[in-house]
Amino acid sequence: MSQPSLRKPDPKNKQLPASGARGGAAIKKRASKPVVEALAPREPVPCLTCGLCCTYLAFEINGPTTVKRASEILWHLYHERVSVYRDSDDEWFVQMETRCQHLQPDNKCGIYEHRPHVCREYSEKTCEINSADEGMTFYNAAEFLEYLSTSRRRVHKQLLDGYAVQSPEALSTFRKKKNGDFKKRLTVLRG
Ligand code: SF4
Ligand code: SF4
Repeated sequence: MSQPSLRKPDPKNKQLPASGARGGAAIKKRASKPVVEALAPREPVPCLTCGLCCTYLAFEINGPTTVKRASEILWHLYHERVSVYRDSDDEWFVQMETRCQHLQPDNKCGIYEHRPHVCREYSEKTCEINSADEGMTFYNAAEFLEYLSTSRRRVHKQLLDGYAVQSPEALSTFRKKKNGDFKKRLTVLRG
């Protein structure tokens, strides 16, 4: 990671925070544990064989503590190529798959010397691929409702009483298929 042509920050740079803004182009990273705790018990995935964090945006959102907040999460999940992530600290993020135009086919950053601040802060040691915090990702409304049915029963009931469609087909059809690419890449990369 010391070659200037690589797209990610040099982890040997002591000025880099152990945690910071997330991914190639997002607002907040989701894995925020200390590096020692966060390293997964396997060989870290090198950035040049990965590229995942330059292919989506993530923004922190409210967790489903009320029916209004839960229905907002449902709304996110009704959209194509949008998923929602909950980390082990119960922080929630909406994730939108969209590839950065500067990510080259060889997984290098085409504007490395001029990449945005958020890209420089990100650490491959605590990223979503190399962190031990696997959290929970919801790729469609059906998965989210299933989670609520056991974790937040009151909110779940309120949603079903007026804010959520209940047909399995309407909840998970093409969204599941479209979001499958991201799920597959994440699964493969995390080993
Ligand atoms: S500017 Fe470079 S490092 Fe930042 S998201 Fe795009 S390709 Fe990735
Ligand atoms: S997700 Fe992690 S390993 Fe993959 S490109 Fe980003 S920083 Fe590197």
